[in-house]
Amino acid sequence: MSDCTASSNSMGSVFSTANNLLLIHKEEYNNLKTKILLLLMLISNTAIAETLIHCPRLIDGLSDDSFETMTIRVRDKEIVGITKGYEEGSKSDTLIVLLDSTCMPGLIDTHVHISSELSPKRYENRFRLDPQDYAYASIPYAEKTLMAGFTTVRDLGSAYNLSISLRDAINKGVIRGPRIYTAGKSLATTGGHADPTNGRNQSLTGDPGPKQGVVNSPADARKAVRQRYKDGADLIKITATGGVLSQATSGQNSQFTDEELAAIMSIAKDYGFKVAAHAHGADGMKRAVRAGIDSIEHGTYMDKETMRLMKKHGTAYVPTIIAGKFAAEKAAVDGYFSDLVRPKAASIGPQIQQTFAEAYKAGVWIVFGTDTGVSPHGDNWKEFGYMVEAGMPAMETIQSATGMASQLLGIEDKLGTLEAGKLADIVAVAGNPINDISKMGQMRFVMKEGKVYRHDQ
Ligand SMILES: [Zn+2]
Repeated sequence: MSDCTASSNSMGSVFSTANNLLLIHKEEYNNLKTKILLLLMLISNTAIAETLIHCPRLIDGLSDDSFETMTIRVRDKEIVGITKGYEEGSKSDTLIVLLDSTCMPGLIDTHVHISSELSPKRYENRFRLDPQDYAYASIPYAEKTLMAGFTTVRDLGSAYNLSISLRDAINKGVIRGPRIYTAGKSLATTGGHADPTNGRNQSLTGDPGPKQGVVNSPADARKAVRQRYKDGADLIKITATGGVLSQATSGQNSQFTDEELAAIMSIAKDYGFKVAAHAHGADGMKRAVRAGIDSIEHGTYMDKETMRLMKKHGTAYVPTIIAGKFAAEKAAVDGYFSDLVRPKAASIGPQIQQTFAEAYKAGVWIVFGTDTGVSPHGDNWKEFGYMVEAGMPAMETIQSATGMASQLLGIEDKLGTLEAGKLADIVAVAGNPINDISKMGQMRFVMKEGKVYRHDQ
């Protein structure tokens, strides 16, 4: 025992010293533990805090029915749940209550020109303005588009590849605007619809080539597609036929050979690009569809055979009725267009809505697109009304601008429908657009990737 005591005594000081050390450590440890716990609670609260959106009515972009009294739960950039009834959530959650409105997926316009807007000064401006002038002018266009509820757009052609820089600036949060998928500069043939030197003084034209989007052989076509890859484009746009607003006589003749189209499609496939074709004339449309193009834009003089071919190949039709109507309206105004453009705008413009009606009846796959930049930015929603007027049910017009549009862009895994796991692009319009399609012009709420850009009370 004594030995033990002795030994315990002799060890006592050692132990007590050790115990003191331990005590000090324990105090620090406890303090630290409290701090860590508080920090963890803070972090976990931030991580699990959700935004709950109460939607009196909800259209999911896929279903044919709308749903009443729903809650969408958003965490960070994603939708994490959609439930029936109004959930209140926890104290740390943010609640957004939308009154008498209809929630739907962020709208997608698959045909815009985000970096320009038509004006009678369009031609003279080409001689006066520099690329940076166009770049600054496009900032409000992007903002108007987003505020109108279009959280994603497909840009089908911009001078100087401006929409590529604009896309990047929006992605970085420098500018407020929609998510942009862009073709950069469109591809045309010499004198074709997207030859940037059409109608110019000869001393200013030079000889544009693949870099500027002008091709005249399969080799040029391959180079032009690869150039767009180098530029940072997301897809390819070609002008398969003549167009209305270019300084050229024909608005509808075929402008690419089968060999050039095949070359474009083959290189586009190598680089994972989808290809959109502007086309007014039926012959140019058929060539493009047979070559495997993904979408026909405008499609004004589409005949029955073209419709059959498009259905067979699964080609999308992007009608842009509003652009046709706008051009026809302005053709009546003296001096708005040049003498070369005016008759084309007057004859091609009004035809598109009729073609759309026939293509819809024939069962062609229709995807929403407006060619905005011809008509003013922010007016994209008017297309819904023109589609309904031509016989498409309101719900289908909304699906064409959400679920269908995401499929054409190849982004259906993350956008286009309201579902758990998708990016939180959620918009809401006043009232019920299924009963009154003009409500699409009364945007009340815009969320893009979980961030609220608009909420009108
Ligand atoms: Zn266009």
